[in-house]
Amino acid sequence: MDMVYKTGSFEGMKSLNQSTILNLVRLKGPISRAEIAKITKLTPPTVGGLVNELVEKNLIIEQEASKSNVGGRRPIMLSINASAYFVIGVYAAAEVIRVVVATLDGKITFDYVQKITNLPTKSEFLAMVKESIHYVLTEHEVDKKYILGLGVAMHGLVNPDKGLAIFSPHLQLRDIPLKDELETEFNFPVMIENDVRALVIAESWFGQGQGISDFLCISVGRGVGSGIFINNEVYRSSFNTAGEIGHTIVDVNGPVCRCGNKGCLEACASETSILERAQEAIDSGKETILAEWTSGDQSALTIELVFKAAKEGDQLATSILEVTGKSLGIATANMINILKPSRIILEGQIFEGDDNIVVDSLQQMVNQYMLTNLSEDIKVICSKLGKKGMVLGAVALIINKVFMPGGVN
Ligand SMILES: [Zn+2]
Repeated sequence: MDMVYKTGSFEGMKSLNQSTILNLVRLKGPISRAEIAKITKLTPPTVGGLVNELVEKNLIIEQEASKSNVGGRRPIMLSINASAYFVIGVYAAAEVIRVVVATLDGKITFDYVQKITNLPTKSEFLAMVKESIHYVLTEHEVDKKYILGLGVAMHGLVNPDKGLAIFSPHLQLRDIPLKDELETEFNFPVMIENDVRALVIAESWFGQGQGISDFLCISVGRGVGSGIFINNEVYRSSFNTAGEIGHTIVDVNGPVCRCGNKGCLEACASETSILERAQEAIDSGKETILAEWTSGDQSALTIELVFKAAKEGDQLATSILEVTGKSLGIATANMINILKPSRIILEGQIFEGDDNIVVDSLQQMVNQYMLTNLSEDIKVICSKLGKKGMVLGAVALIINKVFMPGGVN
Protein backbone atom coordinates (compact mmCIF):
# COMPACT_ATOMS: atom_id res chain seq x y z
CA MET A 1 0.00 0.00 0.00
CA ASP A 2 1.16 3.46 -0.81
CA MET A 3 1.56 5.05 2.60
CA VAL A 4 1.45 8.80 2.59
CA TYR A 5 3.33 11.05 4.91
CA LYS A 6 0.78 13.28 6.62
CA THR A 7 1.10 16.88 5.53
CA GLY A 8 0.10 19.67 7.82
CA SER A 9 0.88 17.95 11.03
CA PHE A 10 4.48 16.80 10.40
CA GLU A 11 3.76 14.28 13.11
CA GLY A 12 6.46 11.76 13.66
CA MET A 13 9.05 14.10 12.26
CA LYS A 14 9.29 15.57 15.71
CA SER A 15 11.11 12.49 16.74
CA LEU A 16 14.70 13.54 17.12
CA ASN A 17 16.02 10.09 16.29
CA GLN A 18 13.96 9.75 13.20
CA SER A 19 15.16 13.11 11.89
CA THR A 20 18.72 12.16 12.70
CA ILE A 21 18.38 8.95 10.72
CA LEU A 22 16.71 10.71 7.83
CA ASN A 23 19.50 13.25 7.71
CA LEU A 24 22.13 10.55 7.89
CA VAL A 25 20.57 8.70 4.96
CA ARG A 26 20.53 11.95 3.00
CA LEU A 27 24.18 12.70 3.69
CA LYS A 28 25.65 9.19 3.59
CA GLY A 29 23.13 7.19 1.57
CA PRO A 30 23.03 4.57 0.22
CA ILE A 31 23.63 3.31 3.74
CA SER A 32 22.65 0.13 5.59
CA ARG A 33 20.71 -0.13 8.84
CA ALA A 34 23.82 -1.57 10.52
CA GLU A 35 25.93 1.43 9.51
CA ILE A 36 23.25 3.79 10.80
CA ALA A 37 23.25 1.99 14.14
CA LYS A 38 27.02 2.22 14.30
CA ILE A 39 27.15 5.95 13.53
CA THR A 40 24.18 7.05 15.65
CA LYS A 41 24.94 4.61 18.52
CA LEU A 42 21.23 3.74 18.55
CA THR A 43 20.41 0.07 19.08
CA PRO A 44 19.75 -1.98 15.92
CA PRO A 45 16.09 -2.61 16.92
CA THR A 46 15.54 1.13 17.46
CA VAL A 47 17.10 1.92 14.09
CA GLY A 48 15.06 -0.86 12.47
CA GLY A 49 11.78 0.45 13.87
CA LEU A 50 12.44 4.06 12.91
CA VAL A 51 13.70 3.12 9.43
CA ASN A 52 10.63 0.98 8.83
CA GLU A 53 8.42 3.94 9.66
CA LEU A 54 10.35 6.12 7.21
CA VAL A 55 10.07 3.41 4.55
CA GLU A 56 6.32 3.20 5.17
CA LYS A 57 6.08 6.96 4.78
CA ASN A 58 7.89 6.52 1.47
CA LEU A 59 10.60 8.97 2.53
CA ILE A 60 13.28 6.25 2.36
CA ILE A 61 13.65 3.54 -0.27
CA GLU A 62 15.36 0.19 0.13
CA GLN A 63 17.61 -1.40 -2.45
CA GLU A 64 19.76 -4.51 -2.35
CA ALA A 65 23.45 -3.62 -2.47
CA SER A 66 25.31 -4.64 -5.61
CA LYS A 67 28.16 -6.18 -3.60
CA SER A 68 27.80 -8.83 -0.93
CA ASN A 69 29.38 -8.24 2.45
CA VAL A 70 31.65 -10.64 4.29
CA GLY A 71 28.89 -13.04 5.25
CA GLY A 72 27.89 -13.41 1.62
CA ARG A 73 24.58 -11.62 2.07
CA ARG A 74 23.81 -8.49 0.14
CA PRO A 75 22.84 -5.81 2.66
CA ILE A 76 19.76 -3.69 2.07
CA MET A 77 20.85 -0.12 1.38
CA LEU A 78 18.73 2.91 2.20
CA SER A 79 18.40 6.12 0.19
CA ILE A 80 16.16 9.18 0.32
CA ASN A 81 13.16 8.90 -1.94
CA ALA A 82 13.61 12.46 -3.17
CA SER A 83 10.85 12.46 -5.75
CA ALA A 84 8.15 11.02 -3.48
CA TYR A 85 7.22 14.42 -2.10
CA PHE A 86 7.17 17.99 -3.28
CA VAL A 87 7.71 21.43 -1.82
CA ILE A 88 6.42 24.69 -3.23
CA GLY A 89 8.85 27.59 -3.25
CA VAL A 90 7.81 31.19 -3.75
CA TYR A 91 10.24 34.04 -4.31
CA ALA A 92 8.73 37.49 -4.05
CA ALA A 93 11.32 39.79 -5.62
CA ALA A 94 11.10 43.46 -6.53
CA GLU A 95 9.69 42.90 -10.00
CA VAL A 96 8.57 39.27 -10.14
CA ILE A 97 6.83 36.54 -8.21
CA ARG A 98 8.42 33.19 -8.98
CA VAL A 99 6.73 29.95 -7.95
CA VAL A 100 8.37 26.55 -8.30
CA VAL A 101 7.57 22.98 -7.37
CA ALA A 102 10.65 21.02 -6.32
CA THR A 103 11.51 17.54 -5.10
CA LEU A 104 13.33 16.90 -1.82
CA ASP A 105 16.73 17.10 -3.51
CA GLY A 106 15.98 20.57 -4.86
CA LYS A 107 15.17 19.55 -8.43
CA ILE A 108 12.68 21.99 -9.90
CA THR A 109 9.83 20.19 -11.64
CA PHE A 110 7.73 23.26 -12.43
CA ASP A 111 8.72 26.89 -12.73
CA TYR A 112 6.45 29.90 -13.16
CA VAL A 113 7.26 33.61 -13.19
CA GLN A 114 4.65 36.34 -12.82
CA LYS A 115 5.83 39.89 -13.49
CA ILE A 116 4.84 42.67 -11.13
CA THR A 117 4.22 45.56 -13.49
CA ASN A 118 2.63 48.24 -11.32
CA LEU A 119 3.21 48.81 -7.63
CA PRO A 120 0.45 46.70 -6.03
CA THR A 121 -1.49 47.42 -2.86
CA LYS A 122 -1.12 44.91 -0.04
CA SER A 123 -4.26 43.01 -1.02
CA GLU A 124 -3.37 43.10 -4.71
CA PHE A 125 0.04 41.70 -3.90
CA LEU A 126 -1.43 38.89 -1.77
CA ALA A 127 -3.92 38.10 -4.53
CA MET A 128 -1.09 37.90 -7.08
CA VAL A 129 0.91 35.51 -4.90
CA LYS A 130 -2.15 33.31 -4.32
CA GLU A 131 -3.12 33.30 -8.00
CA SER A 132 0.42 32.34 -9.01
CA ILE A 133 0.43 29.40 -6.57
CA HIS A 134 -3.04 28.28 -7.70
CA TYR A 135 -1.87 28.42 -11.30
CA VAL A 136 1.16 26.23 -10.53
CA LEU A 137 -0.89 23.71 -8.53
CA THR A 138 -3.38 23.41 -11.39
CA GLU A 139 -0.79 23.19 -14.18
CA HIS A 140 1.59 20.84 -12.38
CA GLU A 141 -1.24 18.49 -11.43
CA VAL A 142 0.55 17.37 -8.29
CA ASP A 143 -1.63 15.68 -5.71
CA LYS A 144 -1.83 18.01 -2.72
CA LYS A 145 -1.24 15.13 -0.30
CA TYR A 146 2.32 14.85 -1.64
CA ILE A 147 3.15 18.48 -0.90
CA LEU A 148 5.07 18.90 2.34
CA GLY A 149 4.78 22.64 2.60
CA LEU A 150 5.21 26.04 1.08
CA GLY A 151 8.25 28.27 1.61
CA VAL A 152 8.36 31.95 0.78
CA ALA A 153 11.53 33.99 0.25
CA MET A 154 10.57 37.64 0.46
CA HIS A 155 12.82 40.65 -0.11
CA GLY A 156 13.06 43.25 2.62
CA LEU A 157 12.49 42.92 6.36
CA VAL A 158 10.83 39.67 7.37
CA ASN A 159 9.78 38.23 10.72
CA PRO A 160 9.82 34.45 10.19
CA ASP A 161 8.30 33.72 13.62
CA LYS A 162 5.24 35.83 12.93
CA GLY A 163 5.24 34.92 9.24
CA LEU A 164 5.16 38.60 8.41
CA ALA A 165 6.82 40.63 5.67
CA ILE A 166 7.48 43.69 7.82
CA PHE A 167 8.68 46.02 5.09
CA SER A 168 9.20 45.67 1.38
CA PRO A 169 11.30 48.62 0.16
CA HIS A 170 10.72 47.85 -3.52
CA LEU A 171 6.95 47.47 -3.27
CA GLN A 172 6.62 50.06 -0.49
CA LEU A 173 4.39 47.69 1.49
CA ARG A 174 4.34 47.02 5.22
CA ASP A 175 3.17 44.18 7.47
CA ILE A 176 2.02 41.65 4.90
CA PRO A 177 0.65 38.60 6.79
CA LEU A 178 1.97 36.09 4.24
CA LYS A 179 2.03 33.01 6.45
CA ASP A 180 -1.53 33.40 7.78
CA GLU A 181 -2.97 34.28 4.39
CA LEU A 182 -1.28 31.43 2.55
CA GLU A 183 -1.97 28.81 5.23
CA THR A 184 -5.65 29.75 5.20
CA GLU A 185 -5.77 29.68 1.41
CA PHE A 186 -3.83 26.46 0.78
CA ASN A 187 -3.83 24.49 4.01
CA PHE A 188 -0.10 23.65 3.80
CA PRO A 189 2.48 24.49 6.44
CA VAL A 190 3.97 27.82 5.35
CA MET A 191 7.35 29.28 6.29
CA ILE A 192 8.61 32.68 5.28
CA GLU A 193 12.07 34.17 5.38
CA ASN A 194 14.04 37.13 4.05
CA ASP A 195 15.32 36.30 0.55
CA VAL A 196 19.04 36.48 1.34
CA ARG A 197 18.66 34.38 4.48
CA ALA A 198 16.69 31.87 2.40
CA LEU A 199 19.52 31.92 -0.13
CA VAL A 200 21.93 31.03 2.68
CA ILE A 201 19.85 27.94 3.45
CA ALA A 202 19.79 27.04 -0.27
CA GLU A 203 23.57 27.37 -0.45
CA SER A 204 23.88 25.18 2.62
CA TRP A 205 21.63 22.48 1.11
CA PHE A 206 22.35 22.58 -2.59
CA GLY A 207 25.16 25.06 -3.27
CA GLN A 208 28.59 26.25 -2.25
CA GLY A 209 27.82 26.08 1.45
CA GLN A 210 27.31 22.30 1.58
CA GLY A 211 29.18 20.82 4.51
CA ILE A 212 30.41 24.27 5.66
CA SER A 213 29.48 25.30 9.19
CA ASP A 214 30.11 29.02 8.82
CA PHE A 215 29.84 31.15 5.72
CA LEU A 216 28.46 34.44 4.44
CA CYS A 217 26.38 35.14 1.36
CA ILE A 218 26.62 38.55 -0.21
CA SER A 219 23.82 39.21 -2.63
CA VAL A 220 23.81 42.14 -5.03
CA GLY A 221 20.81 43.10 -7.11
CA ARG A 222 18.95 46.39 -7.00
CA GLY A 223 20.09 46.51 -3.40
CA VAL A 224 22.80 44.72 -1.41
CA GLY A 225 22.14 42.18 1.32
CA SER A 226 23.99 39.52 3.22
CA GLY A 227 23.12 36.35 5.05
CA ILE A 228 25.17 34.95 7.90
CA PHE A 229 25.49 31.23 8.56
CA ILE A 230 27.12 30.47 11.92
CA ASN A 231 27.44 27.09 13.67
CA ASN A 232 25.31 25.42 10.97
CA GLU A 233 22.46 27.90 11.40
CA VAL A 234 21.29 31.13 9.87
CA TYR A 235 21.96 34.03 12.20
CA ARG A 236 18.95 36.34 12.52
CA SER A 237 19.48 38.30 15.76
CA SER A 238 16.54 38.84 18.09
CA PHE A 239 15.29 41.58 15.76
CA ASN A 240 15.42 39.41 12.62
CA THR A 241 17.42 42.12 10.90
CA ALA A 242 20.98 40.80 11.02
CA GLY A 243 23.06 41.03 7.87
CA GLU A 244 22.25 44.51 6.60
CA ILE A 245 25.62 44.83 4.93
CA GLY A 246 24.04 47.14 2.32
CA HIS A 247 23.85 49.89 4.91
CA THR A 248 27.34 49.61 6.31
CA ILE A 249 29.34 52.70 5.41
CA VAL A 250 32.16 52.34 2.91
CA ASP A 251 32.64 56.04 2.10
CA VAL A 252 31.56 58.75 4.55
CA ASN A 253 31.57 61.30 1.74
CA GLY A 254 29.82 58.95 -0.65
CA PRO A 255 26.46 59.24 -2.37
CA VAL A 256 23.24 59.53 -0.37
CA CYS A 257 21.54 56.17 0.23
CA ARG A 258 17.80 55.59 0.17
CA CYS A 259 18.06 55.04 3.95
CA GLY A 260 19.15 58.68 4.33
CA ASN A 261 22.79 58.05 5.27
CA LYS A 262 25.76 58.85 3.09
CA GLY A 263 28.10 56.32 1.52
CA CYS A 264 26.26 53.10 2.32
CA LEU A 265 27.56 50.08 0.43
CA GLU A 266 24.25 49.83 -1.42
CA ALA A 267 24.57 53.42 -2.64
CA CYS A 268 28.13 52.74 -3.84
CA ALA A 269 27.84 49.20 -5.18
CA SER A 270 24.52 47.85 -6.41
CA GLU A 271 22.97 47.38 -9.84
CA THR A 272 21.11 50.63 -9.22
CA SER A 273 24.29 52.54 -8.43
CA ILE A 274 26.11 51.10 -11.47
CA LEU A 275 23.31 52.24 -13.77
CA GLU A 276 23.02 55.64 -12.07
CA ARG A 277 26.75 56.29 -12.42
CA ALA A 278 26.78 55.24 -16.05
CA GLN A 279 23.75 57.42 -16.84
CA GLU A 280 25.28 60.41 -15.06
CA ALA A 281 28.46 60.01 -17.11
CA ILE A 282 26.49 59.76 -20.34
CA ASP A 283 24.41 62.83 -19.42
CA SER A 284 27.48 64.90 -18.58
CA GLY A 285 29.02 64.06 -21.94
CA LYS A 286 31.90 61.89 -20.69
CA GLU A 287 33.59 59.74 -23.27
CA THR A 288 32.04 56.29 -23.28
CA ILE A 289 30.77 53.84 -25.87
CA LEU A 290 27.65 53.53 -23.71
CA ALA A 291 26.47 56.94 -24.97
CA GLU A 292 26.58 55.67 -28.53
CA TRP A 293 25.00 52.31 -27.73
CA THR A 294 22.09 53.79 -25.80
CA SER A 295 21.73 56.88 -28.03
CA GLY A 296 19.64 58.85 -25.58
CA ASP A 297 17.42 55.93 -24.57
CA GLN A 298 17.84 55.58 -20.80
CA SER A 299 15.94 52.27 -20.76
CA ALA A 300 18.54 50.76 -23.12
CA LEU A 301 21.20 51.08 -20.42
CA THR A 302 21.53 47.70 -18.68
CA ILE A 303 24.04 45.90 -16.46
CA GLU A 304 24.86 43.60 -19.41
CA LEU A 305 25.67 46.62 -21.54
CA VAL A 306 28.02 48.12 -18.92
CA PHE A 307 29.88 44.78 -18.70
CA LYS A 308 30.00 44.53 -22.49
CA ALA A 309 31.48 48.04 -22.73
CA ALA A 310 34.12 47.18 -20.12
CA LYS A 311 35.01 43.96 -21.98
CA GLU A 312 35.55 46.06 -25.09
CA GLY A 313 37.95 48.33 -23.22
CA ASP A 314 35.65 51.23 -22.34
CA GLN A 315 37.47 53.13 -19.57
CA LEU A 316 34.39 54.59 -17.96
CA ALA A 317 32.52 51.28 -17.74
CA THR A 318 35.66 49.59 -16.43
CA SER A 319 36.14 52.17 -13.71
CA ILE A 320 32.48 51.99 -12.60
CA LEU A 321 32.76 48.22 -12.21
CA GLU A 322 36.11 48.48 -10.44
CA VAL A 323 34.75 50.99 -7.92
CA THR A 324 31.76 48.72 -7.36
CA GLY A 325 34.03 45.72 -6.71
CA LYS A 326 36.28 47.73 -4.41
CA SER A 327 33.39 49.00 -2.28
CA LEU A 328 32.05 45.46 -2.00
CA GLY A 329 35.55 44.24 -1.16
CA ILE A 330 35.98 46.73 1.69
CA ALA A 331 32.63 45.73 3.21
CA THR A 332 33.45 42.05 2.74
CA ALA A 333 36.87 42.42 4.40
CA ASN A 334 35.16 44.13 7.36
CA MET A 335 32.68 41.28 7.66
CA ILE A 336 35.49 38.72 7.42
CA ASN A 337 37.48 40.41 10.16
CA ILE A 338 34.48 40.42 12.49
CA LEU A 339 33.07 36.95 11.83
CA LYS A 340 35.91 34.93 10.28
CA PRO A 341 33.65 32.74 8.18
CA SER A 342 35.42 30.06 6.14
CA ARG A 343 33.63 31.06 2.95
CA ILE A 344 32.13 34.08 1.28
CA ILE A 345 29.58 33.24 -1.40
CA LEU A 346 28.80 35.98 -3.91
CA GLU A 347 25.37 35.98 -5.53
CA GLY A 348 24.02 38.21 -8.27
CA GLN A 349 24.28 39.00 -11.95
CA ILE A 350 27.24 41.35 -11.42
CA PHE A 351 29.39 38.41 -10.25
CA GLU A 352 28.65 36.16 -13.21
CA GLY A 353 31.03 35.19 -15.99
CA ASP A 354 34.77 34.53 -16.19
CA ASP A 355 37.36 37.30 -15.71
CA ASN A 356 34.80 39.40 -13.92
CA ILE A 357 36.11 42.88 -13.02
CA VAL A 358 33.80 43.25 -10.02
CA VAL A 359 34.92 39.93 -8.53
CA ASP A 360 38.61 40.68 -9.20
CA SER A 361 38.43 44.13 -7.59
CA LEU A 362 36.49 42.70 -4.64
CA GLN A 363 39.08 39.96 -4.13
CA GLN A 364 41.90 42.50 -4.33
CA MET A 365 40.38 44.57 -1.49
CA VAL A 366 39.72 41.46 0.58
CA ASN A 367 43.36 40.41 0.18
CA GLN A 368 44.49 43.87 1.19
CA TYR A 369 42.27 44.40 4.24
CA MET A 370 41.55 40.95 5.60
CA LEU A 371 43.50 40.22 8.77
CA THR A 372 44.28 36.59 8.70
CA ASN A 373 47.00 34.10 9.40
CA LEU A 374 48.10 31.24 7.20
CA SER A 375 46.02 28.66 9.03
CA GLU A 376 42.83 30.54 8.26
CA ASP A 377 41.66 29.51 4.84
CA ILE A 378 38.95 31.96 3.78
CA LYS A 379 37.70 31.64 0.23
CA VAL A 380 35.63 34.09 -1.80
CA ILE A 381 33.60 32.19 -4.40
CA CYS A 382 30.60 32.77 -6.64
CA SER A 383 27.25 31.07 -6.18
CA LYS A 384 26.42 28.46 -8.77
CA LEU A 385 22.71 28.41 -8.08
CA GLY A 386 22.19 31.27 -10.52
CA LYS A 387 18.83 32.98 -10.75
CA LYS A 388 17.11 30.14 -8.95
CA GLY A 389 19.07 30.66 -5.71
CA MET A 390 16.41 32.61 -3.84
CA VAL A 391 13.50 30.41 -4.88
CA LEU A 392 15.50 27.30 -3.96
CA GLY A 393 15.98 29.02 -0.63
CA ALA A 394 12.21 29.15 -0.26
CA VAL A 395 12.10 25.41 -1.01
CA ALA A 396 14.97 24.73 1.39
CA LEU A 397 13.08 26.41 4.26
CA ILE A 398 10.61 23.52 4.23
CA ILE A 399 13.14 20.77 3.42
CA ASN A 400 15.37 22.03 6.22
CA LYS A 401 12.56 21.57 8.71
CA VAL A 402 11.60 18.14 7.40
CA PHE A 403 15.11 16.75 7.72
CA MET A 404 16.54 18.52 10.73
CA PRO A 405 15.89 17.34 14.28
CA GLY A 406 12.79 19.02 15.63
CA GLY A 407 10.80 18.91 12.39
CA VAL A 408 8.14 21.44 11.54
CA ASN A 409 6.03 22.68 14.42
ZN1 LIG B 1 21.80 53.05 3.46
